[in-house]
Amino acid sequence: MNLHEYQGKEILSSFGVRVQRGIVAQTADEALAAAKKLTEETGTGWHVIKAQVHAGGRGKGGGVKLAKNLDEVREIADQIIGMNLITPQTSAEGKKVHQVLIAEDVYYPGDSEPEEYYMSVLLNRGTGRNMIMYSTEGGMDIEAVAEETPHLIFTEEIDPATGLLPFQARKVAFNLGLSGAAFKEMTKFVTALYKAYTDSDSSLFEINPVLKTSDDKIMAVDAKVTIDDNALFRRKDYAAMRDVREENPVEVEAKEVGLNYVDLDGYVVFMVNGAGLSIATMDLIKMAGGEPANFLDVGGTADAKRVEEAFRIILKDPNVKAILINIFGGIVRCDRVAQGVVDAYKNMGDAINVPIIVRLQGTNADLAKELIDNSGLDVQSAVQFQEAADKVQTVLA
Ligand code: GDP
Ligand code: MN
Repeated sequence: MNLHEYQGKEILSSFGVRVQRGIVAQTADEALAAAKKLTEETGTGWHVIKAQVHAGGRGKGGGVKLAKNLDEVREIADQIIGMNLITPQTSAEGKKVHQVLIAEDVYYPGDSEPEEYYMSVLLNRGTGRNMIMYSTEGGMDIEAVAEETPHLIFTEEIDPATGLLPFQARKVAFNLGLSGAAFKEMTKFVTALYKAYTDSDSSLFEINPVLKTSDDKIMAVDAKVTIDDNALFRRKDYAAMRDVREENPVEVEAKEVGLNYVDLDGYVVFMVNGAGLSIATMDLIKMAGGEPANFLDVGGTADAKRVEEAFRIILKDPNVKAILINIFGGIVRCDRVAQGVVDAYKNMGDAINVPIIVRLQGTNADLAKELIDNSGLDVQSAVQFQEAADKVQTVLA
């Protein structure tokens, strides 16, 4: 589950990680009140107004702006709230901004120049260990740094038995070229950040930039935090931070009825039981020259009700040209699923206006094929995987 920047910062702060202070606002009035409060608390005269959407690159898209007085705070907040923010990480339509974070300006002048670093914490799936990835090249597009100057990206892997060791935190500070007070601050920052990552059940932290202020404080200016979905049952406080407005509406609806659904760009819809078979089916469609419109795992109980719910969700996609149902009857009996398809089809009447190809294999597959073939509906049955893919191609031609 992805979080907004302001929520990520709240979590970091609760673990003692220093963050740029801010207050979230839904309206220009609230923005103004927030700015006044921040001035009282921190003494800052300037504020940054930051669009809160689940996408990075907001600065480039005009979603992060500096306000040098209260009139500008109101003006900028008014402009950003409600805007359609288009960034390199959003679709071409962009994302609607519902709220902004009013933050203290932390790029103030002082004895030294503020410096921006990159830091993330994530799981290295290759080694099965968490790692801290960091770079002196912060504040910019880290993908570009990885492409052009990969030697400027460092990684530090953590042994789960010992956790992050003090020498590792010092190594990070050293590699970032720090000394004196900033060095000490960075070791504290890294230590707190790693503890926050493990103790919050997160699967990703990306802090870009981590800032060294002109008076040698180290703080998170941005925060991309992803909480592991599998931990949400024991993280009710984090689960409550979910903002469904930021998620794909069809995927949200599918989740509510217990279906595993991921929206994709293609036009061949498929309904499969089991994640492994779903992935194999996607490959098959691709190899046959088609483009999958979705990933849909209906799970082990593919009865008429579930098939019908799945049909309703699938058919919301206007690009759909064919439906491929691929079921392996292990615990579930193929004839039950076939009956489910037939019943759902009949219940839905005219709502289904694209050809359906059903491939059923396993327990009672013959019975299932008979049921489909004798149903009198526009449903084609196949027994072999390849046969099913070929039939999809035929109906599309
Ligand atoms: P992103 O573009 O979505 O990654 O949003 P960020 O939170 O990283 O902000 C983008 C940029 O805004 C940062 O890289 C900074 O250069 C700038 N920025 C953020 N906070 C401040 C601030 O307090 N003062 C000034 N002057 N610039 C800031
Ligand atoms: Mn950023």
